[in-house]
Amino acid sequence: MTEIETEVVIVGAGPTGLTLAGELALAGVEAVVLEKLPERTRQMKGGGIQPRTAEMLELRGLLEPLQARATSREPVGGHFATLPVPLDCTPWQTRHPFPIAIPQWEIEEVLEERAAEGGIRVLRDAAATAVEADDDGVAVATADGPRVRARYLVACDGGHSTVRKLLGLPFPGRPGTHRAVLADIELTSVSPLVPRDLGHMSALTRQGDGYWAMLAPLGGDRYRLTFGRTGPADEATLTDFDRDAPVRRDEITDALRAVYGPETSLGAVTHASRFSDATRQLEQYRVGRILFAGDAAHIHPPLGGQGLNLGIQDAFNLGWKLAATLQGRAPTALLDSYHDERHPVAAQVLHHTSAQRVLADPHPTEDVAALRDIVIDLLRLPDANRHIAGLMSGLSLHYPLPGAHPLTGHRLPDADLRTAPNGAGTTRLSALFASGHAVLLDLTGALPSDLRLPPVIDLVRATCADGLGATTVLIRPDGYVCWATSDPTADMDELRAAITGSIAK
Ligand SMILES: Cc1cc2nc3c(=O)[nH]c(=O)nc-3n(C[C@H](O)[C@H](O)[C@H](O)COP(=O)(O)OP(=O)(O)OC[C@H]3O[C@@H](n4cnc5c(N)ncnc54)[C@H](O)[C@@H]3O)c2cc1C
Repeated sequence: MTEIETEVVIVGAGPTGLTLAGELALAGVEAVVLEKLPERTRQMKGGGIQPRTAEMLELRGLLEPLQARATSREPVGGHFATLPVPLDCTPWQTRHPFPIAIPQWEIEEVLEERAAEGGIRVLRDAAATAVEADDDGVAVATADGPRVRARYLVACDGGHSTVRKLLGLPFPGRPGTHRAVLADIELTSVSPLVPRDLGHMSALTRQGDGYWAMLAPLGGDRYRLTFGRTGPADEATLTDFDRDAPVRRDEITDALRAVYGPETSLGAVTHASRFSDATRQLEQYRVGRILFAGDAAHIHPPLGGQGLNLGIQDAFNLGWKLAATLQGRAPTALLDSYHDERHPVAAQVLHHTSAQRVLADPHPTEDVAALRDIVIDLLRLPDANRHIAGLMSGLSLHYPLPGAHPLTGHRLPDADLRTAPNGAGTTRLSALFASGHAVLLDLTGALPSDLRLPPVIDLVRATCADGLGATTVLIRPDGYVCWATSDPTADMDELRAAITGSIAK
């Protein structure tokens, strides 16, 4: 049996594992990704990038290649619980206020290309089957492939995580109460009820004759169909829900006929799978040298396009911290801050998807119908819409980092900057993060020239016509402010403490 030695072994080449692989490569960490599938499935799962994820991908120059593959559509705001009020992200000052529609497998392809450019190996047909961990490292056995030894393992192997099961970790939460089918299909004829454009989610969902369905046109005769039965959940059938049972063609035709009428005819079925709306979260994202990210750490109903985004953002949070730990420059507890910061974020998503599940119930009781009306009215109020838009887009996310300045822990809008010398050059804040380093942005030129910074922090002197709300800002590699001051004569000891406490010893 071949034995491979590396620094990090990542189990799972989904969006989470591949984003993490790219981040580690950027930081100069050697990693191997183990993937059980012999080749990538083109099944549509996650179909969209939320505004905050778009901003983070832009930090690494990954947004442009993704936008080039996006499904063309009129810009339309996101949704909460499929309610018919588009979410407006413009008050959050972002260059990307609309979700970008792009199939998950296309996102994975772009992420994998980037990771491969950084020297990361993705081994396919290599399902992790056993894990051993000790104080020095971990070893992963694969079904028919190599055994991999590494200093850390990151489990990104999805909602049914083998690593989680091998470790016997509880995955507390609620089982699903509804089951549904997701299918990539072609339609050979369509009734007027079939949506023509990829508009707001509320215009893509309908019900009829005991079914609910969501039909997203993808161009030509291709559609992404999601459907299930309306009516109270059938607990008896849910207990023996077999997500691997093949989806029969007649199940799809019955649903299509019920919701879109007999003139709507099914052509080819490219992919079809089953899913339920279970909600669960690991209690600890780190168990010694094993960490969990993405669906392996949290699952929830796929309402509002959150899961893939959550996983990518887990990876952006973890990558630079794991690299700093491996390279011996991490402040104590930096790695643990991954759990401390990301667990509450997923808990909040589990919380609001639970609320959405009630509101989006395809067979609402009178009480739920009344609640929907009230929430629709609330979403028409700018402040309420802004709040929910911030939540669903990820733009309002902030971490409870130490520091008194109001920017601490928050993202920054992608401001235009004029860079030294003489303010001649122009750039954008987002363009400063391609190296994966942290950035110390000096907007007044007041920082002492003899300030000694670790090599993983880039000092940028610039001016910003719109102002950023501070004169000096220290921004982590994942784009969150970990120290800021509005006082050009601020005490540099505070800055040094923030560096050694949050970024590097
Ligand atoms: C119907 C539906 C619609 C969705 N729509 C959206 C949406 O619009 N927006 C959104 O953000 N999210 C959406 N999601 C959720 C999104 O698809 C997931 O959250 C996302 O795939 C999680 O990414 P991941 O990398 O963590 O896990 P996964 O994508 O599940 O990847 C895990 C990888 O690990 C591999 N693997 C598993 N076991 C092993 C093993 N033992 N050894 C090696 N490899 C292994 C798997 O083959 C897979 O490639 C949707 C999900 C569903 C079901």
